[in-house]
Amino acid sequence: MSAGGGQEHVARNYDPLPVVVARGEGAWVTDVEGKRYLDLLAAYSALNFGHRHPAIMAAAAEQLDRLTLTSRAYRNDRLDAFAAALAELCGKDLVLPMNTGAEAVETGIKVARAWAYRVKGVPAGAAEIVVAHGNFHGRTTTIVGFSDDPAAHDGFGPYAPGFVPVPFGDAAAVEAAITPHTAAVLIEPIQGEAGVVIPPDGYLRAVRELCDRRGVLFVADEIQSGLGRVGTTFACDREGVVPDVYLLGKALGGGILPVSAVVADSDVLGVIRPGEHGSTFGGNPLAAAIGLRVVEMLATGEFQQRAVALGAHLEARLRALVGHGVTDVRVAGLWAGVDLDPAVGTGRDVAERILGRGVLLKDTHGQTVRIAPPIVVRSTELDWAIEQLRAVLAG
Ligand code: PLP
Repeated sequence: MSAGGGQEHVARNYDPLPVVVARGEGAWVTDVEGKRYLDLLAAYSALNFGHRHPAIMAAAAEQLDRLTLTSRAYRNDRLDAFAAALAELCGKDLVLPMNTGAEAVETGIKVARAWAYRVKGVPAGAAEIVVAHGNFHGRTTTIVGFSDDPAAHDGFGPYAPGFVPVPFGDAAAVEAAITPHTAAVLIEPIQGEAGVVIPPDGYLRAVRELCDRRGVLFVADEIQSGLGRVGTTFACDREGVVPDVYLLGKALGGGILPVSAVVADSDVLGVIRPGEHGSTFGGNPLAAAIGLRVVEMLATGEFQQRAVALGAHLEARLRALVGHGVTDVRVAGLWAGVDLDPAVGTGRDVAERILGRGVLLKDTHGQTVRIAPPIVVRSTELDWAIEQLRAVLAG
């Protein structure tokens, strides 16, 4: 199979880089021709623990031999332990398991609306959710309705009402948008798809404070920012903030399966009653066994510490590129948005050129590339990758 041919029957909803990956291990993948690449995208942070982490593979293999799927019509002997461990990691008491990130966001929206009607007393059908410009929360019709990315949004209406966008990073704008009908503020604590956009210091604390004061839920989409990526378990931890609702996904599936979850206390998540929400696959025993192993790995703090140390290393090297084809760098833990000087080409151009040097990178929004290696990467490997980037930028 060549890198270009063979994809005639795959719908063109992606424009993949010209590489066909056949194997993966740790921070590296190998293509069908045997060439190795360092994976600096890590499936948008779904591979925080790397490809085929042995401890996660072992949990999956053991579960594959026993039981894979029950539906939630019955209980299975894995879900309770997963939910208990994840609730503890989040400091909450209830977990609602789903599969993809977008499903977790949809679930969070339903929970916030149900809470608004049943607890806060918002009139039926009137609940509003404050969201941020530049958001990315997934691809369902409800979610793309409040996206301001034309590629995600345009041409897929009619859009669901009830979402109020305000500038990201501006707590006063959030406060001004809150009305007696506001159910929740839904934000990414760091905007990933927007290019690793980090809000000003104090923003998350201010949102927490005003949600408390105005009786509104703080829903944090930690699907890309959470689970070790930024050097803390959650990006909200960077400001010592605990949201009312965590939306989790991506790395929760250990790089094996889609596993997502909504995590909150029972006074919020307890509003959902049997039959009102669910998923055939959510909470399946294989997903729960994998998710439990992921939570156990995060509970040691080892990956968070690694992301801090490697992130500092990465940041120093990336900052040295500013003025050499790079105009700005934003780094949080082992997660970086690198803005490119248009003179060196677009993000896509750079991603294609560095591919030839054995590095997988992904552009986002034209002039930015995102660097999010598996947290198992070595610092010497990062140094090598940055040297490849320097060479590509030097033309
Ligand atoms: N929320 C955030 C912050 C994301 O970055 C993404 C995916 O990139 C999603 C939600 C959607 O996740 P999924 O692609 O698993 O539906």
